[in-house]
Amino acid sequence: MTEPLFYAEHLPDTGATFMLTGGEAHHAAASRRLAPGDPLWLFDGRGGLARATLGQITKRGHELTLRIEERRTEPPSKPSIHLACALPKGDRQSVLLDMATQLGMTRFTPLVCERGVVKPGAHSQERWRRICLEACKQSRRVYLPEIREPASPAQVAVSHQGAWIAHPSGVAAGAMLVGTLPNELTLLVGPEGGFTEAEVRQAVEQGARTVSLGPAILRIETAAIGLLAVIALGAWNAG
Ligand code: SAH
Repeated sequence: MTEPLFYAEHLPDTGATFMLTGGEAHHAAASRRLAPGDPLWLFDGRGGLARATLGQITKRGHELTLRIEERRTEPPSKPSIHLACALPKGDRQSVLLDMATQLGMTRFTPLVCERGVVKPGAHSQERWRRICLEACKQSRRVYLPEIREPASPAQVAVSHQGAWIAHPSGVAAGAMLVGTLPNELTLLVGPEGGFTEAEVRQAVEQGARTVSLGPAILRIETAAIGLLAVIALGAWNAG
């Protein structure tokens, strides 16, 4: 079994003693059933990673004393993937953010589209952050995706030159992998009702290119995940 990974906002230096508390401590003691002497890892969501050994378990598993054995910073994965995506309904938002984080999304912008019906709720940001955090732990990605303010396709295309806009009639997705992968790649995915022609035109005028996974009409999250998988493959091949 791989040694488990937990989140801590601030990581101490090698040799320090660290108290892991709250939900992460409880998860380690109750769900993962870690015992004194067990190895574990901590990450801070900004590339910081620390290997630690569990010492004492106190407060009925809500407080863990750890010794930090090694502390390092991992480089960001390349390309850093910015997903600007219309919101699917209900639980499918969790599927989208969970899978996108696993596949390397490092920024998420909720896309506000003319035909979009789903709006972020009052607690969406916090809920999305928790989903992304769990996905980081699952996939051992140590950069927690940044969640940005909602924006329109044109706004995203203006500020992210060379973005890709997902559209069934775009160029085949392999086009994203031609040449050297950029350090950052932005992907726009539209709402259930699709992008309007004006939205696609405006984004293209700003330098975005349409990209497709074939003629089938996919759900929002399927299109996003499929395209992220293509990029993940490209990044892996580029090694
Ligand atoms: N009702 C719309 C479909 C919207 S699907 C229509 O009939 O056209 C939601 C979004 O997923 C789309 O806006 C697009 O960005 C993306 N998408 C769906 N199928 C796709 C495909 N085959 N290739 C690339 N993107 C796709």
